[in-house]
Amino acid sequence: MKVCIVGVGDGGAVASLQNRRVDSNAQIDVFGKRADLGCPPREMPLVLSGTVARWDELIRGLCATSFYEKRNININLSTEVSDILRW
Ligand SMILES: Cc1cc2nc3c(=O)[nH]c(=O)nc-3n(C[C@H](O)[C@H](O)[C@H](O)COP(=O)(O)OP(=O)(O)OC[C@H]3O[C@@H](n4cnc5c(N)ncnc54)[C@H](O)[C@@H]3O)c2cc1C
Repeated sequence: MKVCIVGVGDGGAVASLQNRRVDSNAQIDVFGKRADLGCPPREMPLVLSGTVARWDELIRGLCATSFYEKRNININLSTEVSDILRW
C-alpha cells in the first residue's frame, strides 16, 4: 500500500503513525511545504510567554525528524502538494 499524507503538522504526524500501525509494510510519504518541521502552533505560547526560553529548546515530539525515521516514514519537505494523481 502507498500512503500520501499532506502536511507535517500534528495531523500529518498522527495520520502517518496510525497508518504505520495498521500496515508495517506500507510506503508512507508525508509532504510539507515548509523547509523544516518547525513547531506546531500549540507550542508557540510556551516560547512567547517565556515558559520555554528559546524555540530550539521546545520538546520536539511529533515534530522531530527521528519520529518519522524511527517508523520508516518518508518526509518530503519544501514540497507543496497541488494535485494527487491516483493509480
Ligand atoms: C496559538 C495556538 C495555540 C494552540 N494550543 C493548542 C493546545 O494547547 N492544545 C491543542 O490541542 N491544540 C492547540 N492548538 C491547535 C493545534 O495547534 C492545531 O489543532 C493543530 O496544530 C492542527 O494540526 P494540523 O496538522 O491539522 O494543522 P497544522 O499544524 O496547521 O499543519 C498543517 C501543515 O500542512 C502544511 N500544508 C498545508 N497545505 C499544504 C500543501 N498543499 N502541501 C504541503 N504542505 C501543506 C502546512 O504548511 C502545515 O505545516 C493551538 C493553536 C494555536 C494557533
